[in-house]
Amino acid sequence: MTTRDNFTAATKTALALRAAHFCSNPRCLKLTVGPSSVPTKALTTGHAAHIHAASKLGPRYKATQTPEERVSIENGIWLCRECGVIVDSDELGHTDNQLRKWKTDHETMVSEIRTEGYSRSLALLQSGRMEPQIAKKIIASMEDRRSLWVTFDAEFPDRVRQSLDDLRSRFTAIRSELLDGTPLDGILLSLTKTILAFFNVVESSDLRTLRCNGGDPEWLQFSDALATLRNAIGLQIANLSDAYGIALSEDLQRIAPLRA
Ligand SMILES: [Zn+2]
Repeated sequence: MTTRDNFTAATKTALALRAAHFCSNPRCLKLTVGPSSVPTKALTTGHAAHIHAASKLGPRYKATQTPEERVSIENGIWLCRECGVIVDSDELGHTDNQLRKWKTDHETMVSEIRTEGYSRSLALLQSGRMEPQIAKKIIASMEDRRSLWVTFDAEFPDRVRQSLDDLRSRFTAIRSELLDGTPLDGILLSLTKTILAFFNVVESSDLRTLRCNGGDPEWLQFSDALATLRNAIGLQIANLSDAYGIALSEDLQRIAPLRA
């Protein structure tokens, strides 16, 4: 008979409380306690699961663990019964590192709800859900922006200025939909700074009269600044497109660097 290193009742309770009785699987988050139909009783459907198995033949068993390590709270994660079964029967799909990440992320979220209050936390969760839509909106705001890719000699500098000014306002409007400090807010801020840096360089030129002329230092300054802006924006577009799986139009692909 194989021995099992089981958690103590105190460890199980601590795991459940640290998870606020929610399943720690981020795609599940099922509440594991609630009222029973018997008015004096409560139901619990949670499970203190082992990250590395409690016994030799179990999932993710780690022979080098001491029995103390095996029953320690570090080796446990709070899950609903169903997720407990899934992570143990699909061992390869649920590595110890992944379970530890679920646990850390979940406990961080619970801690945030506890300290920030539920409504602020819901706003944060909501902004996480909104992000893919907003990422699409950011890319869409650049789709019709000829100033970002048309060959330089076809550009009228003053039109470029107007177009970038307008783009900057669009970024500001989109930022108002996001909470400060979210990843997309950071990207919008850096895109705005890129545009401002361009304006700083061309500030001294009269863009209404400036025309393509390879011998004119002001034109060269303008076209260099525009090339720098396109590279910087292209890099951000490529990152956004990768991070959120958004397909780029052919026009935007021209300024996004080639990726493997
Ligand atoms: Zn679950």
